[in-house]
Amino acid sequence: MGKSETMLELARKNKLDFEWIKKVAETEGVDAEKLIRLIAKGEVIVPKNTKRECIPKPVGRLVSTKVNANVGTSVDYVNVEEEVEKAVVAEKSGADFIMDLSTAGDLNKIRRKIMNSINVPFGTVPIYQAARMAKVVVDMSEDDFFKAVEVQAKDGVDFMTIHAGVNWISVERLLRSNRLLGVVSRGGAITIGWMIHNEKENPYYKDFDYLLEILREYDVTVSLGDALRPGCIYDASDRAKYMEFIVLGELVEKCRNAGVQAMVEGPGHVPIDEIETSVKAMKYLCKNAPLYLLGPLVTDIAAGYDHIAAAIGGAVAGMYGADLICYVTPSEHLALPTVDDVREGVIAAKIAAHAADLVKDGQRERARAIDYEMSLARKDFNWEKQFRLSIDPKKARKIWERRKSKSEACSMCGDMCAIKIVKQALEEAGKSRNS
Ligand code: SF4
Repeated sequence: MGKSETMLELARKNKLDFEWIKKVAETEGVDAEKLIRLIAKGEVIVPKNTKRECIPKPVGRLVSTKVNANVGTSVDYVNVEEEVEKAVVAEKSGADFIMDLSTAGDLNKIRRKIMNSINVPFGTVPIYQAARMAKVVVDMSEDDFFKAVEVQAKDGVDFMTIHAGVNWISVERLLRSNRLLGVVSRGGAITIGWMIHNEKENPYYKDFDYLLEILREYDVTVSLGDALRPGCIYDASDRAKYMEFIVLGELVEKCRNAGVQAMVEGPGHVPIDEIETSVKAMKYLCKNAPLYLLGPLVTDIAAGYDHIAAAIGGAVAGMYGADLICYVTPSEHLALPTVDDVREGVIAAKIAAHAADLVKDGQRERARAIDYEMSLARKDFNWEKQFRLSIDPKKARKIWERRKSKSEACSMCGDMCAIKIVKQALEEAGKSRNS
């Protein structure tokens, strides 16, 4: 890859390393030429900082639905080793992307440690670090917003969530709305709090071109954050949310013009029957930029099981065009997740992503072939193959071994196994027909 040209620019000139893109395309089961065209249009992105080597993970049209896992310290709980362990476990469990959302401790040190322990693309939310540059969050300078981006870009961060879409127009919509939970995006809340306190425009929005200069230098992908994402079913699909998407669509165009890859983030909490409209509107307003959804959670009352509420929403959203699903753990809304919570969250999101791939253009056949193989393995009572094809082989095996059947079937029905009874009956019928 040329030093000064970005992935997007190289794709437009058809100058991407063909051997490299061929391998990426093969992994995804898509045509390499087609993949280059989609990258050139910005409808597929491959986040990768020029300073860091990582496994390429294309996101967007035709390629498989991806999963992101968040780790990171909180003010209440700083245990760097545990956050590193979470990142490693998330990658092992199948997370395609990992973000460090640390807000406490030595942020530079923590970020580098987590980033160096994983092989998949690595993301951050730089405003968390910017907010720590002043004693009081609202006192950070406009420069601090950009300093944090620069430090992290230089470090090798592959993609960054930047809440550039929230501006005075959307904040006014928010202030005039009857939202129950107001703003639930942490980065969004910091930005809006700063704007209102200082009576100034969001620096990321005002000086977006400057931001793009920094990102472009290291070929960092921007994930345009939805600061106004609704945080509960009551608030879903209001004007403030759509107002922000109109702005995000404009910013996507600016990113593409500057040669910077962009994806767009979406909500949050959305009732099932509004997911289709929400996803299609976002895709339309944001010129088919890859869509990164935070869930969406389809109910507010699944505390302790929010990974399931999010997986239901993620699968439906994936069916309508969401490209990257952010995991949610059983700890959501309750506490900082444990290592086990992270594993559960990734697995739940992987199930949602695969369910979406079963109906996604470009992935349908490949995904269905896996399910077909699983069904064959079930028919043949081939347990090893079933474990191998499972999204969580370890757990599948553990449950099977816990109450092993005396027969070749499982202990749910034992000798009364429906598959076995019908299989035997059909075999016997076949024998007598042939005799
Ligand atoms: S025993 Fe029952 S649950 Fe187990 S494989 Fe056979 S039909 Fe399925």
